[in-house]
Amino acid sequence: MYLISACLVGQPVRYDAKSYTYPILQQLVDSGQAIIACPEMLGGLACPRAPAEIHGGTALDVLQSRAHILDNTGLDVTQAFLNGAYQTLRLAQKHHVSVAILKEKSPSCGRHWIYDGQFTGQLITGMGLTATLLQQEGIQVCSEHDFISAWPEA
Ligand code: SF4
Repeated sequence: MYLISACLVGQPVRYDAKSYTYPILQQLVDSGQAIIACPEMLGGLACPRAPAEIHGGTALDVLQSRAHILDNTGLDVTQAFLNGAYQTLRLAQKHHVSVAILKEKSPSCGRHWIYDGQFTGQLITGMGLTATLLQQEGIQVCSEHDFISAWPEA
């Protein structure tokens, strides 16, 4: 079973209430091979919401209470992000998910890249909080680009 970031299959759950459409990913959902989740919505954040970035460390540091997630107004939203990450993990475990296909560059879902915490648009190498937690718990995590480039029918 796959778990897919909800915003990749048309759910308007991004911070700006927008979404993306990837027919290959939608097919997985429609055929019952994938469940969808938005960690930030599961964590109780509103939509639309202020954009947030990991500040002062990595996602692993956030999991170990050594860094925070702040929105662009300076509000500390770490607890909501943690709640959402653990709820997503529980959902994944309940549905026996082996692979998560998550939205690149998100502070929750990013697989290879996240923003640098300064809200300047600068990307750095790193993973989002939910991506890190799922990977720690043995779930393979890939970005939408990883998955689509490896999919034979794409
Ligand atoms: Fe939700 Fe992840 Fe998409 Fe952000 S990237 S809107 S947390 S599913």
